[in-house]
Amino acid sequence: SPTPGRLVESVAPASSIQYNNRVYEMTSQGRDVITLSLGEAFFDVPTPYFDNLPAGRIHHYSHSRGLPLLREKLATYYKVECQTPVDPETELVVTAGSKAAIYLALLALIDPGDEVLILEPSWVSYVEQVRLCRGVPVQVPWYESAGDLERYVTPRTRLVIVNNPNNPSGHVLGRDELGALYEVAERHGLQVLADEAYNEFVVGDDRFLSCGTFDPHKTRTVICNSMSKNYGMSGWRIGYAIAHPDIVNSILTLNQHIVTCAPTILSYYLAENFDGILDMTRPQIRDVVTLRNGIADELTARGIGTMPGSSTFYLFVSLGASRLDSDAFASRLLEERQVSVVPGAGYGPSCERFVRVAVGSEPEHRVRAGVSAVCDWIE
Ligand code: PLP
Repeated sequence: SPTPGRLVESVAPASSIQYNNRVYEMTSQGRDVITLSLGEAFFDVPTPYFDNLPAGRIHHYSHSRGLPLLREKLATYYKVECQTPVDPETELVVTAGSKAAIYLALLALIDPGDEVLILEPSWVSYVEQVRLCRGVPVQVPWYESAGDLERYVTPRTRLVIVNNPNNPSGHVLGRDELGALYEVAERHGLQVLADEAYNEFVVGDDRFLSCGTFDPHKTRTVICNSMSKNYGMSGWRIGYAIAHPDIVNSILTLNQHIVTCAPTILSYYLAENFDGILDMTRPQIRDVVTLRNGIADELTARGIGTMPGSSTFYLFVSLGASRLDSDAFASRLLEERQVSVVPGAGYGPSCERFVRVAVGSEPEHRVRAGVSAVCDWIE
């Protein structure tokens, strides 16, 4: 049988997606699974109508930088909502999901052997994407303070990845933490890849601060963001990168060889309905973050630990005294209780004693039933 190459052999599957695939298979067999593993919230947004879009264009390739109107909308969004000025002509590229934006940005920025600092807990794809670029992922355990980041810098360090707000903890980085990180980046000439996919999920007294505010000329910052979370449109596969024009051009060159352009029909629809959709999702975002934080408080009151955080729809729950490791915990919970969560191990070696519980894709009573099953197994 054919032998896969060494590069792909060095890459681990995405644990979150593996669990979700299992859920799709189980539900298609008629099994009722309480799904707390999906990395998205199921918002009520109307089914799109494409009738009024330009019929001759929507089925075809479009500009590989992204539709001009969509780029304009995204640039205005970053300027107004995230205090980061963006030139839609030169500083932004639309991609097929932000996963592609992050990968293309890494490809554009790092050379083989370059080290990339990744703060744990870290979204499951950073490490593997760095490996795909033949870079060297350097994971910083979650219990290290931000000040210790410098200890991990070597002459080969090229880039640090920041996920703010964080998947899976929900932690929102404040001005001091981001400022300290930028000081390290300045001192050592590092690039910063800021994954801001959950920026709308910051509510109450917290404030989201884009990395763009620390580096308005984007000399060392690439911002990646997405329609998947803020707009509840993960299946549309539309994301974007904001960067210095030279880096955008490099991403564009790569994009032209790998994906060509983001889905055209959906880009048209999104550009036309950009503000209206956000008006619909914002109140629902508030509700899901409030639910997340309420459940976090309830878990604390029961003596169950969660990693500190106040944003997103994720809870990173400590397994406490459970004798199961996170993989065994998640797979047995799925088989025996039909509740899907994601093992913490995929978020970094220091996260082995956690599972990720997402509260955005099920009605509240089912979320609570699922969380209760998780608690039964921890207590
Ligand atoms: N970044 C983070 C932190 C995520 O959690 C995800 C999805 O789960 C992504 C990026 C990728 O999102 P997408 O490719 O759907 O834009």
